[in-house]
Amino acid sequence: MIIVPEGAIEGLVTAADCFAAVEKVFAAMARRTARNFPVVREAIGHAEALYGFKSGFDRESLALGLKAGGFWPGNAAKGLTNHQSTVFLFDADTGRCRAAVGGNLLTALRTAAASAISIRHLARPDSRVLGMIGAGHQSAFQLRAALGQRTFERVLAWNLHPGMFGRLATVAGEHGVTFEVVDLDQLGAEADVIVTITSSFAPILKAAQVRPGTHLACMGTDTRGKQEVEAELLAAATVFTDEVAQSTSIGEAQHAVASGLLAADAIVEIGTVINGDHPGRTSAGEITLFDGTGVGLQDLAVASAAVDLAVSKGLAVEVAF
Ligand code: NAD
Repeated sequence: MIIVPEGAIEGLVTAADCFAAVEKVFAAMARRTARNFPVVREAIGHAEALYGFKSGFDRESLALGLKAGGFWPGNAAKGLTNHQSTVFLFDADTGRCRAAVGGNLLTALRTAAASAISIRHLARPDSRVLGMIGAGHQSAFQLRAALGQRTFERVLAWNLHPGMFGRLATVAGEHGVTFEVVDLDQLGAEADVIVTITSSFAPILKAAQVRPGTHLACMGTDTRGKQEVEAELLAAATVFTDEVAQSTSIGEAQHAVASGLLAADAIVEIGTVINGDHPGRTSAGEITLFDGTGVGLQDLAVASAAVDLAVSKGLAVEVAF
């Protein structure tokens, strides 16, 4: 059994590796050769923790396994990250445990890869202004991945809590891109691409604030009840997602579908765009919206990439198991 500890991930796996792995598995999901299994998420009644599993199997890559972990709100006081996860991979031919891989950094990288994939396939090629809503832990990864997809010149940012813009300003500075904190009206009026990555339970961005031709990647909503944008915005957009079942139940589309503003069968799996079975954006004035809910197969794909890289670089720690 191979172990790739959390501390080894940073030097091993790049954002580009994660982009390639996630794009490939989204395509396999659309071909129905890879599928996610039902998600388990439970309050365990200890340490106020939420714990669960995301799992699946990709018949093309033979990635089989699960990500186990969740949210421990008391961790910060112990100097630990509140979100904790580990990916376990199994040999699809024998069921033997193949690898245990630290999942914390990989989660941020695979989530950023998903929105970057949506920008690459759906945003207008002439996009120059990037809007960021949210400035928490994930936001820096999101910004870094998004900046690589178009020739962005400016980043406009908004966050509910004003003291948090440091990490976004740093990433923008690293890329030589102008960084401005703005209100939501200005952000919606000037951004070509908008990434939302918050823990919000009420719509932040209104449909009237978004101009024609915008691409949005809504990445924060991954639980029932969360919401980042007005349901009317999804009604006005062509909506894409990683997995329709998650989009309508725990994703941003849950509200628009529940209120009858959006038909579930109008939501397009991004994998069909990657495969060339759906044209994606069809006009410069179309609003495209990617509902990135986060699926287990993303975790298995990037963890498999980490194991392959560890083996090929001679860095894999092997234990008899
Ligand atoms: P974080 O705690 O570091 O940051 C939270 C962000 O949300 C901050 O910008 C904060 O100001 C903002 N926020 C908090 N409460 C808010 C409210 N009521 N209204 C508006 N904004 C609010 O969290 P993070 O690690 O950056 O994660 C952000 C979100 O992304 C979380 O909801 C998390 O569950 C989600 N997430 C999604 C995926 C996915 O695959 N889609 C993966 C990882 C995380």
